[in-house]
Amino acid sequence: MALKYSIANSSVRIVMQATAQAGKAVQQVKEYDLYLDIDFDALKFSGKVRIDMSSTGDISLDAVDLEVTVVRANGRSVPFEQHGNVVDIQTGQFSGPLEVDYRGKVSESLTGFYKAPYGDKYVLTTHFEAGHARRLLPCIDHPAYKADFKLTVRTRNDLSVISNMPVESEKKEGNKKTVTFQKTPKMSTYLLYLGIGRFEEDKDRHNKTELYTASVVKPDGRIKTDLAFEAAQKSLEFYEKYFGIPYDLPKLHLIAIPEFAYGAMENWGAITFREILLHADKDTSTSTKKSIAEVIAHEIAHMWFGDLVTMKWWDDLWLNESFATFMAYKVVDWAYPQWKIWQDFVKNSTGGAMARDALKSTHPIEAKVRSPEEIEELFDEISYGKGASVLRMIESYVGPDKFQKGVSSYLKQFRYSNAAGRDLWNHLQQASGVDVSRVMEEWISKVGYPVVKASLSQGKLVLEQERFLLSGSRERQTWPIPVSIMVDGKTQQLLLDKEKAEVRVSNPKSVKVNVERTGFYRVDYRGGELQSLVWASKLSGLDRYGLANDAWAFLCSGNMSWKEYQSLLERFSNEEEFLPAFEVSERLTTLFQIAPRKIVDLSRNYHKSQLSILERKKDENSSLLKGTVAVRLALLDDAYAREAGSKFKNLSTIEPDMKRAAIVGHARSSNDYDGLIEWYNKSTTDEDRLRYLEGLASFKRPDLVRKVQDWAMAGNVKRQDIGRGLLQFATANPDAHAVTWEWFKDNVEKLDKMYEGTATLSAYMRAYISIIGVGRVGEVEKLFSEHKLAGADATLERLKIHDRLAKEITKA
Ligand SMILES: [Zn+2]
Repeated sequence: MALKYSIANSSVRIVMQATAQAGKAVQQVKEYDLYLDIDFDALKFSGKVRIDMSSTGDISLDAVDLEVTVVRANGRSVPFEQHGNVVDIQTGQFSGPLEVDYRGKVSESLTGFYKAPYGDKYVLTTHFEAGHARRLLPCIDHPAYKADFKLTVRTRNDLSVISNMPVESEKKEGNKKTVTFQKTPKMSTYLLYLGIGRFEEDKDRHNKTELYTASVVKPDGRIKTDLAFEAAQKSLEFYEKYFGIPYDLPKLHLIAIPEFAYGAMENWGAITFREILLHADKDTSTSTKKSIAEVIAHEIAHMWFGDLVTMKWWDDLWLNESFATFMAYKVVDWAYPQWKIWQDFVKNSTGGAMARDALKSTHPIEAKVRSPEEIEELFDEISYGKGASVLRMIESYVGPDKFQKGVSSYLKQFRYSNAAGRDLWNHLQQASGVDVSRVMEEWISKVGYPVVKASLSQGKLVLEQERFLLSGSRERQTWPIPVSIMVDGKTQQLLLDKEKAEVRVSNPKSVKVNVERTGFYRVDYRGGELQSLVWASKLSGLDRYGLANDAWAFLCSGNMSWKEYQSLLERFSNEEEFLPAFEVSERLTTLFQIAPRKIVDLSRNYHKSQLSILERKKDENSSLLKGTVAVRLALLDDAYAREAGSKFKNLSTIEPDMKRAAIVGHARSSNDYDGLIEWYNKSTTDEDRLRYLEGLASFKRPDLVRKVQDWAMAGNVKRQDIGRGLLQFATANPDAHAVTWEWFKDNVEKLDKMYEGTATLSAYMRAYISIIGVGRVGEVEKLFSEHKLAGADATLERLKIHDRLAKEITKA
């Protein structure tokens, strides 16, 4: 599953619901033969499932919101009882076919078998991860209970039906048809897929695999899937070679779902996506194109890692997700080298996780879960980003060839079966001869991460570690850190597993620790001599990014003064590399948001100089960054806002990455509320809607922003775009902070309800209320004491860090 663009990570709540087999008889399943008669118009269905299974005693099946009518064991009717989400069937010891007849309704939520509307039409589609297959069929809904699935669907004649496998036969009778699909290989219940509706398909292939994209036809036309096909072909080609195992099914569908809580979902052979992640045309921005390639590669990685080999239980879900996250970047780096995508990985996955994991209110990658809220809170930057970063660190430590060998032999051993994290460590260990288990076990079980303090003393480089916390407090703790050191251009590795280690260096001319930012730790260089040796090194863009990013963390934690940080920024004033230039832009933007008057000149100068550097460049990353820089400049410089806004009337002719700046510039210089609302309503793609929403949140007049917020909450904006969208854009606009805080207070109950059962609101609060709350810490504390909100602790912790920093800067 991909979190990108998600509104909800709630699927994991199921971990708390005891699955039917727990503590009961030993049950085994071989095959489900499922027949569904679906009334598309009345939104209901009747089902018959024939389960080939055995049990040492009475059988228990999972079933949610299904009405079971008859159960037959070996052809004879047997007594059963439905209580809660379980069907108990009195079979005694049993082996053979168990047949269950039942009825159900299409789900109202966005999980199970649900209705995804577009205009006045809809498709029916499934989303089963983690435990929602039981909403369509009685089953043992547990990832380790793998079985073959045979599916037959009867429904309206004029609709297409899509499932994991190709159609085996189709029979028409009157206005109905019956579609039977080929039997799947052995797989987990959460990967089963069914979609019904007026899907239009495009077709292509990769070697023997038939590739399809499916999307609904809307008045404004079909989505354009050329890039999606290309990314899928590249992904399949890469993984088949890397894993040494061909893609297993005869076909693969990429399906665009008009209403989808998640970014994407890896149903085997029938992957579902948000529309924005399959559609690319001439107006698509570089960052959306990157997301398309990355998310498709992520989901296709799951066809092996997740689908072919599945975790034993959901507490290893982080491994599935970390691995798919990590592999996706490998594919994109190979298929689209011009994007230098590892820079995005380090910025988004590693950087995001490091910011989160330096709070006291963090959690280990692998955490035992006690309450449903806790599980939701686990699906965040730590599970995806830190996990993936630790895998990258391990790959760099054992070497990419051995890492690949270990992964491939792991997949071959456990295909069509289940495994746990330690099985993968064992294979990596066998392939490399390195003690991977020890390193991994410590990294996944401990909270937080280290800072390595480096100093020079009598011909030695001294390395010491302790836990890094943004609060500035110190904690003695050690990790086994694979540390990379570059001395005079030569790189060496050591495992720093104690508090302190020394490396002999004789008269070095240059020194750099954590080369290419492969390690999940920060480096604090002590002493002027060592610092000049660092800057004397040949530093890559990743290295320069690392220095800037660590400095920012030290500024926040109080280990670096504002004056020192400012003088470090001077080294980046004419930065030519994408990643460090982006990093400095991000930090100046955060600083502008928390202390606008004090930072406005510094930020303006930097962004103006970046704009002129980027205007000379033609590559896609420069174009992406130029678009971001222009938006930021429009928010702090009225003259530039007018200049950018003057292009608004010719929006269709502007390059895609510059459209946001033209819209924001127009909003800043015109207060054109009605016009922007009209453009918003006329938009036909999600990306355009977000662009206009950004304009609407960027007005100089706070009363207009508040008007937009109320308009949005009245159902005029998709739920998914309120937090990561409206609130995000208003945070970027300091003129709107006071009204946005009032709006948040007025709507806190409604927002909590809107994102109920998900970790979404807490993620938004961490990112945005921690900024908007600067200067009003007491008020935020008061609100959080009156309303119990998940994730309030981390928000307050981050807010206090920003508030302290704002005070330091304002005093200076
Ligand atoms: Zn995933």
